[in-house]
Amino acid sequence: MNQGEPHPMTGQYFDSPVPPGAGWPGDPATAATRRAGDPEQVAALAASAGDVPELDARVSVCRACPRLVDWRESVAREGRRASFAHEPYWGRPGPGFGDPAPSVLVVGLAPAANGTNRTGRMFTGDRSGDWIYSALHRAGYAEQPGSRHSGDGQRLRGARIVAAVRCAPPGNAPTGAERAACRPWLARDLGLAEPTLRSVLALGSIAWDATIAAARALGWQVPRPKPRFGHGAQTGLTTGDGRRIELFASYHVSQQNTFTGRLTEPMLDAVIARL
Ligand code: SF4
Repeated sequence: MNQGEPHPMTGQYFDSPVPPGAGWPGDPATAATRRAGDPEQVAALAASAGDVPELDARVSVCRACPRLVDWRESVAREGRRASFAHEPYWGRPGPGFGDPAPSVLVVGLAPAANGTNRTGRMFTGDRSGDWIYSALHRAGYAEQPGSRHSGDGQRLRGARIVAAVRCAPPGNAPTGAERAACRPWLARDLGLAEPTLRSVLALGSIAWDATIAAARALGWQVPRPKPRFGHGAQTGLTTGDGRRIELFASYHVSQQNTFTGRLTEPMLDAVIARL
């Protein structure tokens, strides 16, 4: 039986995966939060989420993709990185993080097995997170330049971070069916953000495609043929009210891009300056 380990910031002991409402910093759910068990339930619970806190709570307890549920929970129980072996692992979908009424929505690919899947917060606890939060800090959106762990005091102003797929996938590679199953959460994020939203930053081609698909699912107009992904690409998403929201693309902040120099800090800063 799992005896639990102490949270690195608060010292409170948690089982892994973390039960909803157990007191984890930033946990949006409670034991009563409604839980999606298949893609149809994702669509229904996403569409009926009345506000951002309710959406985040429902995302964080979703169990619609058996392969991903199995992976995220097995990493949390038995597959921890050696350097984090004595920490509790979140082991649940990553809820959105940041300003609930954002002007900018940042869309990543999916949680990392030892990053968000460990800390319970988007892009938190890994090198990719250091990159995006540092860039958001330089641009004035993030209070701190890094993002160590849930409960570290990090805050976003005017920006919110979500992902195309909310569970850590093996090899960072969600299947087409998993991407489709998770899309209603992103569509609801776009819909709830719409009144204040000015622009969306898609990190990588999967986030770009997911954002366009989610916008179309909301009935927003997207140019045809589908705009192509490329670093610095820009297109317009037209809402049902006829308002234009800009969609920008950046290479993903993954280590395979940042270590190789395919994505540099000035390149990322230049895109964020256009948001
Ligand atoms: Fe639910 Fe998305 Fe995770 Fe699938 S990937 S279980 S739809 S949160």
